[in-house]
Amino acid sequence: MSKHHSTPTLLSRPDFRNHTFERDQFKCVICGNPALDAHHIIERRLFKASHEKGGYFLDNGASLCEIHHIEAEQTILSCQSIREQAGIKTVLLPEHFYADLDYDKWGNIITSQGRLKGELYYEMSVQETLRNCTFLKYTVHPRVYHLPWSKVEPGDLVLEDDACFEGEEVVVMQKMSGSPFTAYPDYCHGDRIDEPLPIGMREALLQKTAVLDDDMRIYGNHQGGVMSLSEVWVKNDCLDWQETQALADLLELSVPSVLFEGLYDEFKLMDFRPNASMGYVLRLKKGFRAFDVGRSRVSYSC
Ligand SMILES: [Zn+2]
Ligand SMILES: [Zn+2]
Repeated sequence: MSKHHSTPTLLSRPDFRNHTFERDQFKCVICGNPALDAHHIIERRLFKASHEKGGYFLDNGASLCEIHHIEAEQTILSCQSIREQAGIKTVLLPEHFYADLDYDKWGNIITSQGRLKGELYYEMSVQETLRNCTFLKYTVHPRVYHLPWSKVEPGDLVLEDDACFEGEEVVVMQKMSGSPFTAYPDYCHGDRIDEPLPIGMREALLQKTAVLDDDMRIYGNHQGGVMSLSEVWVKNDCLDWQETQALADLLELSVPSVLFEGLYDEFKLMDFRPNASMGYVLRLKKGFRAFDVGRSRVSYSC
């Protein structure tokens, strides 16, 4: 099975419905009863870039009867089983998803140990729909977009435009070299939840994070035993920069060195490249939601 982040043809909403029903001969792909809904296999809101907006792709649609539609929304039917029943050969994911991970309809990550909370997890409607599902407390840090004018490597995510930062206060910092870590009050890991951190570091980190509330996590980098904290999350919200610094102080962790703090528009005028060989992280000074993380903290290099 091939995995793609998008296909060339984004349909209009009526075309999505009509083409999905036609492909499935107006029958529920699970039971063959008359279809009532052209269901989005992956939630439409998770497709955000203009080339994928709304997720109206034929490979993201399946005709379902009322009962199987409810089961699909509740993730009792997995995305993969719906794809197989509809004869869909492509796993079509929003561009910011990790191509090597499995997701449920709502963008929660499915692992062998359990489900990890995705960017819509804390939304009331999603909580209601998934109230019978159990989740692990841990998550995978969202992928980072690059500014449109950044130097990029193949496969990097690139923002379509930087309008999301215009008129906003931003903080620009040096990108930390080394490896990422995520730490919760009772657990910590590297890039992925099953990627262990060096033992000495693990103990030191958990001693610090033991004071955090249960629904908090911190994200940062470590190199040669030196840890640096760059983000603090409470549920699906990333704290503002001031609160982040305050918590770093409390935990006795350093933060990346700040190179600019102020209006994005001023920053852009500066032709900002203090050291061309390094990468930078630019974030909104204010806090933001996981759903908006791609447009709230980005990376660039010159
Ligand atoms: Zn059915
Ligand atoms: Zn649906």
